This record gives sequence, C-alpha cells and structure tokens, in this order.
Amino acid sequence: NPLARAQYMLAAHNARQLPPDGGFEVAFAGRSNAGKSTALNAICQQNALARVSKTPGRTQQLVFFDVPPTTDRYLVDLPGYGYAKVPKDLQAHWQAFIDEYFRTREALKGLVVVMDIRHPLKDYDRQMLGYAVSRDLPAHAILTKADKLGRGQQTQTLLAVRKDLAQSYGDTVSVQVFSGESKQGLDEARSVVSGWLQM
Ligand code: GDP
Repeated sequence: NPLARAQYMLAAHNARQLPPDGGFEVAFAGRSNAGKSTALNAICQQNALARVSKTPGRTQQLVFFDVPPTTDRYLVDLPGYGYAKVPKDLQAHWQAFIDEYFRTREALKGLVVVMDIRHPLKDYDRQMLGYAVSRDLPAHAILTKADKLGRGQQTQTLLAVRKDLAQSYGDTVSVQVFSGESKQGLDEARSVVSGWLQM
C-alpha cells in the first residue's frame, strides 16, 4: 500500500501557504464526526495520521500529507464543517478559501466525501460534491460506519445513494460501503485514492 508512506507536511490557512501546485492530490471532506479521520487513518494504515487535523487552530486549515517517494503527491484533509463553535467571520474566510481551492487548484485530481452511512448526503456533502462536479473532477463517496448496519440495510443505502448521485451529478461520482472498524471496503477505497494519485 503506497499510501502507508503518507506523512504530515503542512497546514495551510490561506492560498499563499499551499504547497506548489503541480503534482497530484486527493482531498478528503466530511462533516465532523462522520468518520473521516478514522477512514483516512485506515486507508493509510496508520493510527494517528489524521489526528493532527483535529488539533485546536487546525480546524479551519487545509492539512496536507505528502506521500513519498516523490514530493508532489498529497492527501489533503479538509476539516471544519459542522464545528458549531467557529465564529462567523472565520466561517466566511474558510468558505472563501475552500471555494478558491476547488476552483483553481490544478493538482486536485479527485474528491473523497466521507459520510456516516446512517446520515448520507447532507447539505455540506452536496456542496462539496457540487464543487468537484462543477469542475469535472471525479468524486468518490465513502459510506462509513457500515458495521452499525446489517448487510441488507447497507445494500439498500448504497443503492439509494448511488441512484441519487447519478441523478444529481451524472456518472462522475462513485460510491462504496466502508467501515473503519471492520476494515470493510478498505481495498476499494485505497485503489480509488492511489489511482487518482497515479501511484
Ligand atoms: P471525523 O470527525 O469525521 O474525523 O470522525 P472520527 O474518525 O473522529 O470518528 C468519529 C467517531 O465515530 C469516533 O468515536 C469514532 O470512533 C467513530 N467511528 C469512526 N469510524 C467508525 C466506523 O467505521 N465504525 C464505527 N462503529 N465507529 C466509527
């Protein structure tokens, strides 16, 4: 798993702090508590990788992990939606930064949206998917915490979300069932991400 080499690189608060824009990167989005950190850690075979994104002050930054051996492959953790404590002006800054990032970042090759399988496709998720699709970027929805549901309900939700995504966004958004707990769906998630990174 080439993603096991991922390591914390930097956290960017504004466009000037972003690493050079010439390589390949995959962004991870998710409402807080959806299970994004757990999914990112599992995909990268690490216990604490995404913890850095949750430290105070980092919840309004883009957190970059580089994936050696080259220096131009990144995973980007997009934190901070659903944090009620964030003041309004910070939210506005964050919104503008994310917006610009999605509109202009050449290196961005795909978006992963992590959703709790019991609460899929909330407003924030659709906003992120909209950003990707409006730029013709592929997106992949991960329905995590699948271990909380039986197989029948997992399949039912998968089919319903797949249908909704196809109707809302066409065929550029894929979806899978996942669990950071049981590791269900891990190979599929890794292959999507490493494929976008061309690794
Ligand atoms: P984040 O805020 O999106 O990064 O969410 P976290 O990864 O920190 O997870 C939020 C909570 O959900 C934590 O208590 C996790 O232990 C739990 N969680 C995350 N993934 C799973 C999963 O696949 N299965 C179960 N049962 N719990 C999970």
